[in-house]
Order: sequence, then C-alpha cells, then structure tokens
Amino acid sequence: MPSLGCTSCGAPVAIVNRFSKVVVCGYCGTHLRITDSGLDISGKYPKLAEYPSIFSVGSSGTILGKPFRALGRMRYACKGAHYDEWFLEYDGGTAWFAEDDGTYAIYFEMLEAADLPDPEKIKAGQNMIVGGKKVMIKEKGIAEIESGEGELYYYQEPGTRVTFLDGISEGKKVSIEMTDDEVEIFTGRPLLRRDIEIAGEGP
Ligand SMILES: [Zn+2]
Repeated sequence: MPSLGCTSCGAPVAIVNRFSKVVVCGYCGTHLRITDSGLDISGKYPKLAEYPSIFSVGSSGTILGKPFRALGRMRYACKGAHYDEWFLEYDGGTAWFAEDDGTYAIYFEMLEAADLPDPEKIKAGQNMIVGGKKVMIKEKGIAEIESGEGELYYYQEPGTRVTFLDGISEGKKVSIEMTDDEVEIFTGRPLLRRDIEIAGEGP
C-alpha cells in the first residue's frame, strides 16, 4: 500500500496491513479512518503515552515459532488497571495479542457472530452457547478504551465502554467484547513469556 499523509499534520503514514481500518498518526496522534480514497480524521485524542509493553509498533519476531509483526494496539482501562490488545500480522494471517500485567494470550480465530443474551443478564460462572460451542464464563467486567496507536482492525473510539467476558470452551480461551453496536468473539490460548521471541524493533 502506498504511504499516505496524515490529514491533520501531513506526516507520512505507512499502512502495512490491508485489513487495517484505522491508523493512528505516530506524529500527532490523530486517529485516521482508512477509506478507499485516503484517510479521514476519526478523532483527535491525547497520544498514547509510553506505557510499557513487550512490543512497540513494528516489533517482529516469533510467537510459538511462527512469525509475527506488531501493527498497533488498543489500551483499555479497567478498575484502575490497564491492559493492552495488540493487532498482529501472524503466520500469514492476523491475530490479537493480549497483555495484562505480565500475562499474555494470543487470539486467532473469530467465531461466527452470534446472538448473545443481554450482557446485563450474563453472570460469571454460567455456561452459554456461543457460535455453537458451550462456553463457561469465568469473568465479566467493564473496561473503557483509553487510546490506541499504530494500525488497528477492530477499532473503537477512546472513551467507549466495553463489556468483556472471559471464558473457556473445549480447553481454549474465549474472549467476548461487546459495545452498544458490536460484538467481537475470539478464541485463543495463553502464552508463556518464552513462547514469544522478539527479533526486531520498530519500522
Ligand atoms: Zn498527524
């Protein structure tokens, strides 16, 4: 894809992945929607501060022996703590990588969008059917999107409240994120730090 200019400040913005929907200008922090004709300003938000993460935008290496590149992340705030979700190019496809206080997980696969019960009625400890699979819900919570950087596929504006459900199905981790207008369902697995090898940094 060609390099484009930030609609707000004019800085060059390179887009690596054809699935990316939003890119955050690395210079001014403006969130830019990627359209057929170029970049539209989605919003101006404070630039994501230098929060520690094992990745930065452009980090590459291997996860479970397969190649990845970190394209971008969204940072969530929940009960005074934070976690990050990185959008990855992974082994010829895409994946999400969750980093939460030194614990890691990778999510590869999105289940078919399913009719979920009203999130208000879902409780930790219950079983529910998601995408034809029985999922045991382990945790439910509400997080708020704080900011983002780099290229993103699943994107929500900072300030959006997200109800999340963490569960388990057939030995796999299941992550469900719900906003007023979207439901995203992922399955994945936990990682140990030694499953992740970082070989290169930045663009
Ligand atoms: Zn800019």
